[in-house]
Amino acid sequence: MNSTHDRQVRYEDILAARAAIGSVVKRTPLLHSQPASGLAGADVFLKLETLQETGSFKVRGAVNRLANLSAAEQQRGVVAVSTGNHARAVSWGAQRRGVAADIYLSSLVPGNKVQAIRDLGARVNIVGRSYDEAFAEAVRESSQSGRVLIPPFDDRDVVAGQGTIGLELLEDQPQLDTVIVPLSGGGLIAGIALAVKSLRPGARIIGVSMEIGPAMYHSLRAGHPVAVEEGVTIADSLAGGIGLDNRYTFQMVRDLVDEVVLVDEEQIRSGMRFLHAHHGLVTEGAAAVGIAALQAGKIGRLGERVGVIVSGQNVDAALFASIVKSESTAGSVGGEKP
Ligand SMILES: *Cc1c(COP(=O)(O)O)cnc(C)c1O
Repeated sequence: MNSTHDRQVRYEDILAARAAIGSVVKRTPLLHSQPASGLAGADVFLKLETLQETGSFKVRGAVNRLANLSAAEQQRGVVAVSTGNHARAVSWGAQRRGVAADIYLSSLVPGNKVQAIRDLGARVNIVGRSYDEAFAEAVRESSQSGRVLIPPFDDRDVVAGQGTIGLELLEDQPQLDTVIVPLSGGGLIAGIALAVKSLRPGARIIGVSMEIGPAMYHSLRAGHPVAVEEGVTIADSLAGGIGLDNRYTFQMVRDLVDEVVLVDEEQIRSGMRFLHAHHGLVTEGAAAVGIAALQAGKIGRLGERVGVIVSGQNVDAALFASIVKSESTAGSVGGEKP
């Protein structure tokens, strides 16, 4: 990689990203949630990336990276590896630009996500039984073909694209004290943290991961990127490692994120039920971890105003139905604190 690619992500990159992607991606609404506010004892606002193009925020970073390809790179096409949503975002952005996309997925990616990617005209390769195995294959293909690999999180343009969410958050609610963000590879939280702390240094940024295989959480504790065993979780979009040669997001998360908390599978389901019961929202597991953490009382010192990133809606319909079916028997959905 060339050396200009190794400089850190800057606030100016996020401003440039907004200029590059603003006419393509949606500016999503920030919804005040009375029920969640009651739960948290603070004013809670939900950032609805469920309404984003392709059903998740990933399109912000993907479109920003695609916008920065040279003409020759566009000609050759791109390669992406993903737990599902990033591949869908790259395929969507590539299709708009007439760029060919080769997608590598592991067998853990749910069928609904695989189909959505095929529907966008991308070539789908299912390889390996973990994200890391699929990643290795994508790297091989990229170096053989000369096609640019668009990483799902550890890339300056991708982080900057996700950071545009932070700009929107503070435009709508300049006084946010805490922002709660789903955390996997850390592109989302790194971009948001950079934007929010540039504009409002005192705001706290909290990451939430699932208990099954939280790679960033263990890496932070170890002081360097570590591999974790990938397991099956309802928050499938949060699965996967952070890359042992991580270049951007590990450092950014270490330096800019105040706390990382974990939620278990039942807490995540409860978060999905809460958002559906109170707001009619369809969320995938990864998108409900913030509300799950609030419900479970996992986050202290919230301050007066809290932003929660609701990151995507791409859940299998039958699975979602089976989860919300139990909401009427769950009693007071807001009252499931342990
Ligand atoms: C990718 C993804 C995340 C996590 O983003 P990272 O940048 O990998 O931390 C959270 N929620 C959804 C829906 C996602 O697709």
